[in-house]
Amino acid sequence: MTDEIQADIEAVSQIPLINTLLDVAIETTGLGFAAIARIVDKQWIVYAVKDSVGFGLLPGRALPSNMAVDNDILQSGETVIIDDVQTHPHYRNHPMAAALGFRSYIAVPVLKNDNNPFGILFAMDRQPISFDTSKFIGMFNLFANLIANQLNAFESSHKSESELLREQQISKLQHVYNNQLSEANRNLEKANLKLQQAIDTGNMGTWSINPESKQVTMSAFIRNLAGLPAEGELTIEQSMSVVDPAYREALTDVLRDALVNHIDCDIEYPLINGVTGERKWVRCTGKLLYDGEGNITEYSGVLLDITSRKQHEDKQAMLAAIIESSDDAIVSKTLDGIITSWNNSAERMFGYTEREVVGKHISIIIPEDRLAEETQIISKVSNSERVEHFETMRRTKSGVEIPLSLTISPIRNERGQVIGASKIARDISRQKIAEERLQNYAEHMEILNSIGQTISADLDTKGILQKVTDATTQLTGAEFGAFFHNMVNDKGESYTLYTLSGAPREAFEKFPMPRNTKVFGPTFRGEGIVRSDDITKDPRYGKNAPYYGKPEGHLPVVSYLAVPVTAKNGEVIGGLFFGHSQPGRFKKEHEQLVAGVAAQAAVALDNAKLYDEIRILNAKKDEFIGLASHELKTPVTSINGYLQIVERGMAKDDRNKTFINKARTQVSKLTTLIEDLLDVSKIQTGKLPFSYTKFDLAAILNDITDMMQQNNLTHKIQLHYNQQPIMLKADQQRIEQVLINLINNAIKYSPGADKIIVNAELSGNKVSVSVQDFGIGIEKDQHERIFSRFYRVENLAAHMSGLGIGLYISQQIIERHKGRMRVESEPGKGSTFVFELPVN
Ligand code: ADP
Repeated sequence: MTDEIQADIEAVSQIPLINTLLDVAIETTGLGFAAIARIVDKQWIVYAVKDSVGFGLLPGRALPSNMAVDNDILQSGETVIIDDVQTHPHYRNHPMAAALGFRSYIAVPVLKNDNNPFGILFAMDRQPISFDTSKFIGMFNLFANLIANQLNAFESSHKSESELLREQQISKLQHVYNNQLSEANRNLEKANLKLQQAIDTGNMGTWSINPESKQVTMSAFIRNLAGLPAEGELTIEQSMSVVDPAYREALTDVLRDALVNHIDCDIEYPLINGVTGERKWVRCTGKLLYDGEGNITEYSGVLLDITSRKQHEDKQAMLAAIIESSDDAIVSKTLDGIITSWNNSAERMFGYTEREVVGKHISIIIPEDRLAEETQIISKVSNSERVEHFETMRRTKSGVEIPLSLTISPIRNERGQVIGASKIARDISRQKIAEERLQNYAEHMEILNSIGQTISADLDTKGILQKVTDATTQLTGAEFGAFFHNMVNDKGESYTLYTLSGAPREAFEKFPMPRNTKVFGPTFRGEGIVRSDDITKDPRYGKNAPYYGKPEGHLPVVSYLAVPVTAKNGEVIGGLFFGHSQPGRFKKEHEQLVAGVAAQAAVALDNAKLYDEIRILNAKKDEFIGLASHELKTPVTSINGYLQIVERGMAKDDRNKTFINKARTQVSKLTTLIEDLLDVSKIQTGKLPFSYTKFDLAAILNDITDMMQQNNLTHKIQLHYNQQPIMLKADQQRIEQVLINLINNAIKYSPGADKIIVNAELSGNKVSVSVQDFGIGIEKDQHERIFSRFYRVENLAAHMSGLGIGLYISQQIIERHKGRMRVESEPGKGSTFVFELPVN
């Protein structure tokens, strides 16, 4: 090798970019070897090398003589790519592959400015290429371009140096050198930008505008992204048509700035795909290239698809906006607890501004006794766990502790490692208050409800008022409570203490009853609730003689609450009064509670009053019935006697005899009625007499059914029993009365039917007798009631005569015999009345 070549090689090795480019070539292709070689004296000499796989070719070495491949390249200026020499149609068995020992191979020509070939840039590896090589052709050409530029610059300087001595040529050469160097630098810069972006993203395309013709050239990537025709040159208008209309003006300005004012561009805007209508964000950077005279030779650049970045940015912006507008405090911190962000609500909630806390430790808002929580939270978060709705307290700048619900989530970096925690804090003071209120309310409702139930079940006035006084005294937390009845005395002003809770009656009895004073009056006049935190300070207090305030020895009342109890008709029944020796004990909610109870009490009292009135009326009615039937009994008995006498004195064939018989039947019905009414009166007064004898119920059943059958032609009365004697110790007449009653009802309430079944069954020590009919039946809800006094069902039965006392008397008789009576019935199907009696 000549010294000259050696010097050349050394000089080339001094060009830093060449080494870098070879590095990049290796890295991007994955091939282990890259080098630049050129022909010197008909021999291929390696000029610069990057060899990471040990091909052993060093700079200055001559390549094997048969480099036909590369000679071809230099001739044709074309790229050679051999994915795998063993399968390649042309290069299989090529001597060069054997000589160099490669399987994969890429080579591109390095053409200098004057288009003279300098040499080749080539890369190779012992492994076949397993990727899509088409992607690398452009890049390799770009590398070759850059190398050529560097070589041009180098040669120029080399040349100028060698002719430096010739002083007359110095300035000229200097000029050429400078021009070329700056040209090369500009090209280098442009290529560098493209290269960098290509490597960085892979989401880019190139474009250029001819400053003369204004024709636009675009790479396939941009055409595809914008939905523009795949082939052919484009006009500026065509290119503009795919730009989002809102950005067209700005882009036109940029274009003008470039071509007129020589300003390079860097602009972001959305494209609307001409075919799919899809919107894509792009970043367009453009450089102006000039000739030696400063004229624009080319305006070109790259276009990057930044849609995903934009979407990410939009999402980030949206998230940031959400965080800022959230009502919850959102704070992020590192795993060491150092605060890294702090939103508006956090400022509002804790009183610290973002500036004050970012960089500080989170313990700034944690109360001392809760510091351990932080360690637990961080350890959970470090394990990628989320802490949800953790209710705790945090301290504000002013030292106030507020209840919060915290949700803490881990923050991860791109690699998924937990690097911090985000904390969402919700102020739950209001929620807590609401919860407490709700609970109070629920408790109060429960109390009201239970009071309502107990007092409405009570029909005794005193009982109701005592319960109400006790419950309300407890509810209000009063030391004592009292109910005063609104009873106007002769002077029109006195009230009676009725019930008292929490204090002995004597505490009141020493004093005159509360009078129509300024304090008590409004309550008894029903003017509304009076509540005072300190009644002794009330202007109405102490205005009355003789005590002018509280009499000595009176219960020490400071807190005072009085609620009127008003009946439905507006009449004030009385007032509930509560006292406490401490001030400010009664609150608004107590008023509502007592008012609620008072309203229920008023209803209960109304009911009790009504009940009292009904009871009195009932007693009067019973008294009247007893009296009337008693008075009726004697004349009816006399009538019956006289009718018998008249009948006896009549001739056998006297035509009037039938009338006498009819009159006697009616009198007998009347007697039964009067007897029944008298029975009712006697039952009421507990004076129904019974005379017990031993008899056979079976015989009675026979007799009664026979007798009833004789008097009745419409129904067949069937008696079912096994003829065994059924011995009872009972009032025989009364048991007969029950049987007759039931059979009579069965006939009366089954007008369309033709049979009655009487059944008797002895089982163990009791006998069960049933009377079944197939008549109108009885609704289920009436089954109990028909056994009440004077009760009659409001249906078809109402048209059938009766007083509604037969079943009442029957049931009373059976129960007095320690038996039971019931009915089974379905409307329209019939009824079965059953009584059971113990057998001795
Ligand atoms: P009365 O028959 O005089 O009305 P009761 O006390 O004997 O009085 O009967 C009370 C009510 O029971 C009757 O009014 C009738 O509505 C109903 N009742 C009694 N027995 C029957 C029955 N066998 N079938 C249908 N309803 C009956």
